[in-house]
Amino acid sequence: MSVYTAPLKDIRFVMNELAGLAEVARLPGYADATPDTVDAILEEAGKFASGVLDPLNHTGDEEGSQWKDGAVKTPKGFKEAYRQYVEGGWGALPFGPEHGGQGLPKLVATAVEEMLTSANMAFSLCPLLTQGAIHALELAGSDALKQAYLENMIAGKWTGTMNLTEPQAGSDLALVRSKAVREGDHYRISGQKIFITYGEHDLAENIVHLVLARTPDAPEGVKGISLFIVPKFMVKPDGSLGERNGAKCASIEHKLGIHASPTAVMVYENAVGYLVGEENKGLSYMFIMMNAARFSVGLEGVAIAERAFQRALAYAKERLQGRDLAGGGTVAIIKHPDVRRMLMLMKSQTEAARALAYVVAGALDAASRHPDAKLRAQNQAFVDLMIPVVKGWSTETGIDVASLGVQVHGGMGFIEETGAAQHLRDARITTIYEGTTGIQANDLIGRKIAREGGATAKAWLQHLKGFDAELAKSSNADVKAIRTALSAGAAAVGESIDYIVANAGKDVMAAFAGAVPFLKLMGIVAGGWQMARAALAAEKKLGSGDKAFYAAKIATARFYADQVLVQAPSLRDTIIHGASAVMSVPEDSMLAA
Ligand SMILES: Cc1cc2nc3c(=O)[nH]c(=O)nc-3n(C[C@H](O)[C@H](O)[C@H](O)COP(=O)(O)OP(=O)(O)OC[C@H]3O[C@@H](n4cnc5c(N)ncnc54)[C@H](O)[C@@H]3O)c2cc1C
Repeated sequence: MSVYTAPLKDIRFVMNELAGLAEVARLPGYADATPDTVDAILEEAGKFASGVLDPLNHTGDEEGSQWKDGAVKTPKGFKEAYRQYVEGGWGALPFGPEHGGQGLPKLVATAVEEMLTSANMAFSLCPLLTQGAIHALELAGSDALKQAYLENMIAGKWTGTMNLTEPQAGSDLALVRSKAVREGDHYRISGQKIFITYGEHDLAENIVHLVLARTPDAPEGVKGISLFIVPKFMVKPDGSLGERNGAKCASIEHKLGIHASPTAVMVYENAVGYLVGEENKGLSYMFIMMNAARFSVGLEGVAIAERAFQRALAYAKERLQGRDLAGGGTVAIIKHPDVRRMLMLMKSQTEAARALAYVVAGALDAASRHPDAKLRAQNQAFVDLMIPVVKGWSTETGIDVASLGVQVHGGMGFIEETGAAQHLRDARITTIYEGTTGIQANDLIGRKIAREGGATAKAWLQHLKGFDAELAKSSNADVKAIRTALSAGAAAVGESIDYIVANAGKDVMAAFAGAVPFLKLMGIVAGGWQMARAALAAEKKLGSGDKAFYAAKIATARFYADQVLVQAPSLRDTIIHGASAVMSVPEDSMLAA
């Protein structure tokens, strides 16, 4: 079984050359993100991921979390790993020093998060949800709530959850029914929530649930939902833990993957809850948390893809099968063009998705910290446009890459002991939770494109035009080919935007029938943009330093252009010409029985 190796070279290259770490470090408050500090953090995170979390990935999957009498026991080794996670201060990286955070940029935290997730996605979900809960509290919580909860959550002593889903309310949160009745300075929360990640576990001394519920006189639909903090154990005024609150874990789910991560059915019976922000504004606060969580789930796609690639590569170098096409004896399967094609698809798409996610992380830093308000707004608009792409495209890509990883292994990929199958099983949830790909795509074409007439997306295309002029200066044959494919991809996006903007008002079914193909098109072209930037940066560095890495980067970008980016025009055709047949077979005729 191969061991996870942190892809530090590529992570450093992406952070420095594409995501602008140096500029991010100049933003107010990020002075600590010096090159030496960032290097040390990346090295240590790589060691923790490879040495502590990776060895628990397979055993955690086999053992799974176990429920008994309302309590959940995580797999062997998880408690100790979590203790080391807390001791290392890993959860505190991106948060402000006022509550004990380390105040480092999102970009740096992103690199750490990728490595921890690659090594053990089921473990990393606990910090992921905690960080989302911290964000929501930081932004919308009262001073008293912040005082009572943030320090312990940032330190990792307490973990956080996100309680949205109910049996009748999944993608459609307007249907949430849980109740919140005011009682003095707090509320009494009752209802059932399902699929709550780390809703119950034995890793930390308290669990802080963020719960969506309705007050008795709240308006119908999304405008009547409020957000509450419901701790597992009550917190006394001196900060110590008191009695058990009425939040119980009724069971945990048996599922396809992420077996070590407990997915809880939570029952709230007159539980004490505290309002976050104002009544009826809960969903907007939850969106703060969801945006951060959507970004993180997109990063899960990158992380799983990286791990699946590493495992497939190691296997392909060892497995002897078939003869060399160029003549000769039995060879390792990596010598066969089709296996090499699969490995290059895995490598190039992983690197493209990583680059896009890190560039968005850098933009998130600029959106919150840049001294120039105009630049803050521009970065925020770019982030808003790209979050559904990072979430939807990177996770769909993660599944494709994990599936290729199984294929590279042949029959052994289908057998659990190699670990390739686990990556595919684990990856499968990423396109479902935090909003399915369909929901991300609707958000992209509805709220992010049609509502503003495609303005932000067109500004991005304008930026691509400027970048094309830079590419044109290169005499490198690979860069020239990449430029041709990127320019065709950008044209395909532009035509699709025009179609969506024109049709969203007059033929909404036709516009939305192409939503997921459009999300994929955006991802492929945005990923191609980053690979082209990477090729250009690598070309400039070819003469210095790590020649093999830079040459491989250019070749990988060329492969991506030839094999992935070229799909863009056909996706445009699907979006513009493929809608009519989507709804044309009547429901009753779909099954030809
Ligand atoms: C392992 C796991 C962990 C989870 N963790 C959490 C958690 O911590 N907290 C939490 O609150 N929830 C959690 N969830 C719930 C998760 O977010 C939901 O499952 C998800 O949002 C989808 O909702 P649903 O399952 O009800 O599917 P549905 O909403 O019923 O969707 C079914 C299908 O219909 C499509 N669909 C639905 N509406 C539309 C539409 N308007 N347009 C186009 N297509 C549509 C969907 O894309 C999907 O393909 C978790 C789920 C799982 C399985």
